[in-house]
Amino acid sequence: MWPLGWLPVVAQLVLLRFLVARAESPIRVFVVPHSHMDVGWLYTVQESLRAYAANVYTSVVEELTLRKHRRFIAVEQEYFRLWWDGIASDRQKRQVHHLLATRRLEFVIGGQVMHDEAVTHFDDQILQLTEGHGFLYETFGIRPRFSWQVDPFGASATTPTLFALAGFHAHIISRIDYDLKDSMQKTRGLQFVWRGSPSLSAEQEIFTHVLDQYSYCS
Ligand SMILES: [Zn+2]
Repeated sequence: MWPLGWLPVVAQLVLLRFLVARAESPIRVFVVPHSHMDVGWLYTVQESLRAYAANVYTSVVEELTLRKHRRFIAVEQEYFRLWWDGIASDRQKRQVHHLLATRRLEFVIGGQVMHDEAVTHFDDQILQLTEGHGFLYETFGIRPRFSWQVDPFGASATTPTLFALAGFHAHIISRIDYDLKDSMQKTRGLQFVWRGSPSLSAEQEIFTHVLDQYSYCS
């Protein structure tokens, strides 16, 4: 059994990335199952909920409960809340509490959505993050410790400040310029401390990990 299984899933990912980078061989592959369900992209929220989003949480809770070594990170609170408030049974809710307590299920980012960074005003970023975090704290007494910002278009200097102040320990991203990612891979620069502005303090910077492929299915 992996001896660091008690750590949050994203912490394991970051640590393992470091360990694998140091090791010459063998290469170890780690799979981190996660949700990624855009809230209102091709379909409305209700259509998406009925078509697939509700089934994701129903099947994840069932499958995690079946095998103790399974892990999952859930990202979008909008769908989870609709499932929790209107679909989940009392038994499934008890199972979710147990999965969270045993760290087999973890919420990352915890906002209502994974907000875009190219055009979204920071007022709205704060609002949606606060809304999702409020639900998690009131319902489970937890606060997300890691961001999972793997599909926004663009990267805003607001992000490291906002996410550091939101209490995240680390920040996971993926969508950056392909040539930039290529050069960062070559120089082993995919992990760095991101500071939005040199005038800001250390409390407003965040350790950032860039996934090494060109999508969030790295
Ligand atoms: Zn997306």
